[in-house]
Amino acid sequence: MRPRDLARYLEDQGWRRSPALAPSGSSEVSDGSLAALARTAQGCTLCRLHEKRQTVVFGEGDPHAALMFIGEGPGAEEDRTGRPFVGQAGRLLDEMIFAMGFERREVYIANVVKCRPPGNRDPREDEVAACSAFLDRQIELIAPRVIVALGKPAARRLTGSNKPMGALRGHWASYRGTPLMPIFHPAYMLRTPKAKSEAWKDLKQVMRRLKKDSPLNS
Ligand code: URA
Repeated sequence: MRPRDLARYLEDQGWRRSPALAPSGSSEVSDGSLAALARTAQGCTLCRLHEKRQTVVFGEGDPHAALMFIGEGPGAEEDRTGRPFVGQAGRLLDEMIFAMGFERREVYIANVVKCRPPGNRDPREDEVAACSAFLDRQIELIAPRVIVALGKPAARRLTGSNKPMGALRGHWASYRGTPLMPIFHPAYMLRTPKAKSEAWKDLKQVMRRLKKDSPLNS
């Protein structure tokens, strides 16, 4: 899809234009559909990552989830299957979700970029910027009560801070008004066992927050 087509589609959906796609100045309306956005993403050619992708990994889960996880980008397995976090790191993420008292289908899982960076490198700044319209609209439509950023690219993209992960993790931030908790990436936890217990501490904060802010408690 050409940038102009994406901009027009998003505008039709009432989405506020991204500086990466178009000049500012248009109005925001809050209507649209996650499925339609996912279909639009399937044809995206906004950055070089479309050239080698097998599939666009848009995201999956409950479109009305209270809890949203955002990772960095698809790996080989995700690129092949079209589903986020289905490799080894995904299995650990599933365990963490389960330990928090959820099933995978009850949360929403997405990535900062929707196409696989070659060789599993980190997504580049221009790739993250090109995909930002999709992620922002996805968050807006899901409207989670808490976002968990998995690893550095997601934490930096959503907090806007360049601090190291060790400084960002475990500290509440906010993304456009939604409470945001950066934690270590599950792939890093697999390599660094100590990171696992730190991530668990951070996820306990998330569980407390979800409980405290639950509509059932008001
Ligand atoms: N799989 C994903 O979908 N995202 C990551 O960040 C890592 C693995």
